[in-house]
Amino acid sequence: MIDVKNLSKSFGDHLVLDDLSEHIYPGEKVVVIGPSGSGKSTFLRCLNLLETPTAGTITFNGVEVTNTKTNIDQIRQQMGMVFQHFNLFPNMTIRKNITLAPVRTGLMKQEEADETAAVLLKRVGLLDKADAYPAQISGGQKQRIAIVRALAMQPKVMLFDEPTSALDPEMVGEVLDVMKELAQEGMTMVVVTHEMGFAKEVGSRVLFMDSGKILEQNTPQEFFDHPQNPRTRTFLSKVL
Ligand code: ADP
Ligand code: MG
Repeated sequence: MIDVKNLSKSFGDHLVLDDLSEHIYPGEKVVVIGPSGSGKSTFLRCLNLLETPTAGTITFNGVEVTNTKTNIDQIRQQMGMVFQHFNLFPNMTIRKNITLAPVRTGLMKQEEADETAAVLLKRVGLLDKADAYPAQISGGQKQRIAIVRALAMQPKVMLFDEPTSALDPEMVGEVLDVMKELAQEGMTMVVVTHEMGFAKEVGSRVLFMDSGKILEQNTPQEFFDHPQNPRTRTFLSKVL
């Protein structure tokens, strides 16, 4: 589904992604872990060109994302993204947050989008918040809304960048539960997280990044039970 070839990214003379090549297959749940500053967010943001790669190509379902002739908006509509800090529109109701993109892009008429929003809100137990504003709900609720807002666009893949890192501990579970359901439904997912339990339970593959490279990758079981790279071992000894 996503083919990354020789991807590099520099900010000035700081090389942040160093010649990464990777494939993400349909239905995979790829968990990306690694120390702060290792390039995890930049990697995710390059996939839908929120960051412009310095070198390399990214292909999504056969379309070269990095080709300047490609309509990047069409690509982004198919790649849902969820951020650490929710990024909800503060001046819009929850319903409007969810329906805005499907209506603006012509994917749905307002009425259909409203119905979709209701179904999605019901699914995450937040239908009663449809007319609330983001400031009136908790962090865990905001993140569940951010997830269904992305789902309203009927994406082919969901990218998560530390979706639970900004949450109070008691709210982490409710967000991970929504992500687990999504995984069970077969969604292709790339998840940057420090939640090792989630990685073990849900991941089909774990990638370990350090200094802009994927140093090691494996199934969760092999990765956590038999880490090969010394830097992976050091990292795991700190977080497990
Ligand atoms: P991670 O998500 O693994 O913590 P990031 O991808 O956010 O790492 O960052 C990798 C490196 O790139 C860090 O050193 C960070 O400071 C740098 N970086 C990220 N974004 C920018 C930017 N927009 N401008 C300059 N440097 C950046
Ligand atoms: Mg990050």
